[in-house]
Amino acid sequence: MPKKLMAANWKMFKTWEEARQTARELVVAVRNDLPDDREVLLCPPFTALRGVSEMLMQQEGFYLGGQDFYPAEQGAFTGEINPDQLLDAGCSYALVGHSERRHVLGEKDDFLASKVAFGLQKGLKVILCIGETLQERKHGQVQEVLHAQLEHGLKHISTGISAEHLAVAYEPVWAIGTGETAGPPEIQEAHDLVREKLKGILKQGEAIRILYGGSVKPENTASIISLDNVEGVLVGGASLNADKFSQIVLA
Ligand code: PGA
Repeated sequence: MPKKLMAANWKMFKTWEEARQTARELVVAVRNDLPDDREVLLCPPFTALRGVSEMLMQQEGFYLGGQDFYPAEQGAFTGEINPDQLLDAGCSYALVGHSERRHVLGEKDDFLASKVAFGLQKGLKVILCIGETLQERKHGQVQEVLHAQLEHGLKHISTGISAEHLAVAYEPVWAIGTGETAGPPEIQEAHDLVREKLKGILKQGEAIRILYGGSVKPENTASIISLDNVEGVLVGGASLNADKFSQIVLA
């Protein structure tokens, strides 16, 4: 059984010191009670990666991740950061294709597919985020959208990758930052669809972790995390507060 991944996405929040403080509080709140079958991942903004990395050093079960990266070795890409720089800052994971990258910053499937392949090739563990909009859900296109995002996003990866290097986060766009969570039946249905598709695309498909994200809170975590094919959560708003996120991690 893969370990459940309890991931925090701090987006464009927190200064260096605030991020260190939250990480410190979280480690103190969680470290003695963290079950063996859970891992904690913190994805702070780039400017706080090193600072948070110091807080997580020697803490078993805690990992650092980047929220994004550019799929190139190095070069004239003003404002961007590459996988080697993330690894150098202490990251082992990175998110790719978060809904805000797709819908606010206009990143398309082809670009995201290069990121997934490049990040894996560089040794990062990649979490590919997918999810349908409310309109797509209303039009009955959930399966079509999720399958297409997986097919496109994973099209360049080598079949030899190890399952622990890749995860998929299902985050319905309409549930992100809205307070509206998908209910257990909707989450179950979507995660089953993702699992079937992953099995069709990759021989390791059965073992790849699928996380749920979208208004995860301390009160709804236990019912989400206990569903089949749910191997973790990706948390935005509720992860900014160490007390709330520690309740989620231990739920
Ligand atoms: P939320 O964000 O928990 O604030 O809904 C989730 C995410 O964007 O990953």
